[in-house]
Amino acid sequence: MPRQELTAQTIAYGVLARERAMLSQAITLTESSLARHRDKAQDVLQRLLPRTGKAMRIGISGVPGVGKSTFIEALGLKLIGMGHRVAVLAIDPSSQRSGGSILGDKTRMAELSLNENAYIRPSPTGGHLGGVTRVTRESLLLCEASGFDVILVETVGVGQSETVVSEMVDCYLVLMLPGAGDELQGIKKGVLELADIIAVNKADGSTLNDAKHARAAYQRALSILQPSGSWQPKAMTCSAVTNDGLDELWQEVRNHRRQLIDTGELVTLREQQRVSWMWSIVDQLVRASLHKQEGLRQLINETEDSVRAQKVTSLQAANALLSAWRASFPAPAPKVH
Ligand code: GDP
Repeated sequence: MPRQELTAQTIAYGVLARERAMLSQAITLTESSLARHRDKAQDVLQRLLPRTGKAMRIGISGVPGVGKSTFIEALGLKLIGMGHRVAVLAIDPSSQRSGGSILGDKTRMAELSLNENAYIRPSPTGGHLGGVTRVTRESLLLCEASGFDVILVETVGVGQSETVVSEMVDCYLVLMLPGAGDELQGIKKGVLELADIIAVNKADGSTLNDAKHARAAYQRALSILQPSGSWQPKAMTCSAVTNDGLDELWQEVRNHRRQLIDTGELVTLREQQRVSWMWSIVDQLVRASLHKQEGLRQLINETEDSVRAQKVTSLQAANALLSAWRASFPAPAPKVH
């Protein structure tokens, strides 16, 4: 934090004026462990809300080594060449354990990170997935207000991170390694259900044929799933090294977007995402409030023991905890008529 603190209004103006330092500062405020900073971040966000929502929000996931950073660098530079401004954010829930994030690391995207039309922010470290998610969602809005019209949200397939990313983007792109049937069997079915586009990367040199076979296998797998909207997910091939297939891939992302706009699904999707995010915050806050009550600590431990030992059902235990939580608040003062 700077010695002389800037006001929320100054920061908001700076973000709108596309000042990189101001954007970084606003994101740093959302990441802060100090409630005062996070409140200020909310103030900044509130001022900027009318200027958000214009970007193409794209999620990109894939196992380590699939080529995410190479792909994002290649695609990002291509998009900048087409006149776009590209922000890269990351969600890496493992960063709280490793103490550092490998995603969104600038050294992985050396050329892109130096480009004035790119902004790369590594995954926030520390905290639980809910906290990391909040920061990334808020960073996304800040980047939009700062004129970035393509936001790439990168994640590895750890735990719930794929679901979390799919719930904040318009288009979800899953990168896959070339490989025959074994590869397909190992993949989590849930990921296929989330994908709008599957891109088998490394479709070059000695792995070109494997990539083509894998693409066909993924396309078959996708065609037997019931799509969640009007879009029928596609499997494609690309090479982040030779750039082969990147133009076609981007065209498909645009087709997907066109369809969501024409059918009205984009508006509905964004509305649903905002509401479900609100409820997920309520869940987090209620849980945090429960754990904060000193008087409930023993009851929480005992209730967990009872659930473990199957003395009560999980629902009964949850009800007991919520009743105790409600009872822990001072009774409201009687109304004076
Ligand atoms: P990440 O862990 O998913 O970010 O993967 P990286 O982008 O670091 O790439 C892992 C390795 O795969 C690196 O050695 C890259 O050079 C290589 N790689 C990435 N994309 C391609 C590609 O399209 N073709 C080939 N042949 N290698 C690639």
